[in-house]
Amino acid sequence: MTTLVDFLQKEIASLKEQNIFTTLPVFEGQQKNRVVLNGKEVLTLSTNNYLGFANNPRLAEAAKKALEKWGFGTGAVRQIAGTMSIHNEFEKQLAEYKKTEASLVFCSGIAANRGTIQALMRPEDAIISDELNHGSIIDGVRLTKSERKIYPHMDMGGLETALKETQGAAKRLIVTDGVFSMDGDIAPLDHITELAGKYDAMVMVDDAHGDGVLGKDGRGIVDHFNLHGKVDIDMGTLSKAFGCLGGYIAGRQELRDYLITMARSFIFTTAHPPAVVAACSEAIKMVQDEPIHFERLWKNAKHFKDALQGLGFDTGRSQTPITPVIVGESGKAVELSKKLLEEGIFVKPIVFPLVARDKARVRTIVTAQHTSEDLDFAVEKFKKVGKDMGII
Ligand SMILES: *Cc1c(COP(=O)(O)O)cnc(C)c1O
Repeated sequence: MTTLVDFLQKEIASLKEQNIFTTLPVFEGQQKNRVVLNGKEVLTLSTNNYLGFANNPRLAEAAKKALEKWGFGTGAVRQIAGTMSIHNEFEKQLAEYKKTEASLVFCSGIAANRGTIQALMRPEDAIISDELNHGSIIDGVRLTKSERKIYPHMDMGGLETALKETQGAAKRLIVTDGVFSMDGDIAPLDHITELAGKYDAMVMVDDAHGDGVLGKDGRGIVDHFNLHGKVDIDMGTLSKAFGCLGGYIAGRQELRDYLITMARSFIFTTAHPPAVVAACSEAIKMVQDEPIHFERLWKNAKHFKDALQGLGFDTGRSQTPITPVIVGESGKAVELSKKLLEEGIFVKPIVFPLVARDKARVRTIVTAQHTSEDLDFAVEKFKKVGKDMGII
């Protein structure tokens, strides 16, 4: 018989040996361009706070006002007694912004993916999924008994083959990340919806890294490709560029109605505190009436990516503010991250199982809050450490 302690000690030793054991970095103070880690100020290139909304005073003010009006907690799940008018009003606002009929907020993005896929897909159906889709999509697929087909990353030939092979299924769902979280490349959603139309399949896109980043006023990937009305399920998160917390589904009114009754990750969890909802609502207003954040984000991202590429780093296929610096073995990525931290730059190594074993990397995300001095400083340090380690 293995005891819990024996099991844990053995597993942890093994994870450490593989250089994939992680601990939690802890920050003092606000999430901004420079943060305090272990008593030392460092420049961070690791947050999803794309627009700088997480620490924006306008958001904090909206939350404070809601706190005074509504109190803090909700005391129940949405279905039973937790829904306040602020929840429904926000979902209307979000749907209008996303140009869909309706939306529904979940406690997180992972809950939105799990609950939606679980509720919609039956044993007689088929799910067709990009091989690099986010773990929360994979979890959602695992909650179903549907047939699964995994197609090579962004390979439209592979997708078409999977569609041909699943013609017997009752209904079919193509599911893809919009912006892939580890590489920063953008799914060819125009081609995907075309194939879906040809083969009569549904499309679900995970816009976690496209929300606030792509499209007019940050409306996301559907707007970026002008595919309004052609994507059945537009999933996104309020936790990244919007600086708050929560996941959501945008689409038809019937989709919302159905998920309220059937999505287990929606049914069995307590409603968002009103202060969080108010901050989400302010974020959706702010992304539209303060375009400066969006403009700065893209200016910074382009500048930084060009500089890293100019130095000869392998930045993969990135087309967005996510810029990976791919180095190969996980040990090397861990060392690069450690050396950069000594120089005052915080970037987490991303290793297996988040990416393939031989594609370990540090993943950088510049935000609207980085100054041009920040970016010059970061480029200089990447150059120094990259040369020291023989990467460039
Ligand atoms: C972060 C992320 C999620 C999860 O969103 P949360 O709101 O943080 O739970 C889902 N999908 C993708 C692609 C993500 O990057």
